[in-house]
Amino acid sequence: MQNIILIAPPAAGKGTYAKLIEETYHLPHISTGDLLRKESTKDTPTSRHLKEIMSAGRLVSDDIITSILSDRLKQDDCQNGYILDGYPRNIEQAKAYEEMLGTLNKDLGIVIYIDIDEQDAKERVLGRVVCPQCGASFNTIIKAFSPKENNHCNYCKHELVSRVDDTEETFHKRFCEYLEKTDSLVKYYQDKGILKVVKSQNDDTTEIMLERIKKMVSND
Ligand code: ADP
Repeated sequence: MQNIILIAPPAAGKGTYAKLIEETYHLPHISTGDLLRKESTKDTPTSRHLKEIMSAGRLVSDDIITSILSDRLKQDDCQNGYILDGYPRNIEQAKAYEEMLGTLNKDLGIVIYIDIDEQDAKERVLGRVVCPQCGASFNTIIKAFSPKENNHCNYCKHELVSRVDDTEETFHKRFCEYLEKTDSLVKYYQDKGILKVVKSQNDDTTEIMLERIKKMVSND
């Protein structure tokens, strides 16, 4: 199996797809956000520094992330491939990552890019409702993901709520920022010939998305 970098806009359901790939190919899902959050709970000067940077929403420096990630990639479960989520975020990190892979004697593998239109992403964010009791997530705009009973969880029947930051204004800002940052990265991997674009539209079920992802993985 090969190494996979997963790139997707904030509203694309990256976590869901990462889980699908993880289960289908038995690959560990490595999220740099999770790795850094775990590291930040330790009681060391680096951890305190990490906590500060992350709570300010800033990017962690390359040397810290490189050291934490390369330690993780050396572990046994990564020897037959892994899914990388949240890294690289820019061209500098993409280059640092290739250097890291050279040292670890690993291949770049493929990049799966979940491509979603702004209008679709907007419906996902503005229609998103979650169950505060069991964490299940639904969508009041997209039929395939609507709760069965109006505004109540399908599983535990608790009343569903919207997230306070799921507003049109916040969405637009985040989506534009994302495109601005990832456009050059997507182009970078396209030029290398390893970019696999998986189109995602609202009402595409997770089964359909998995089939599309599988085609991209096996085409390689
Ligand atoms: P978000 O999508 O909100 O950025 P993540 O869980 O991916 O959430 O990341 C949480 C935080 O961890 C980021 O705000 C950033 O401080 C840090 N982080 C994660 N990945 C990277 C990265 N590739 N480079 C630098 N910092 C990162």
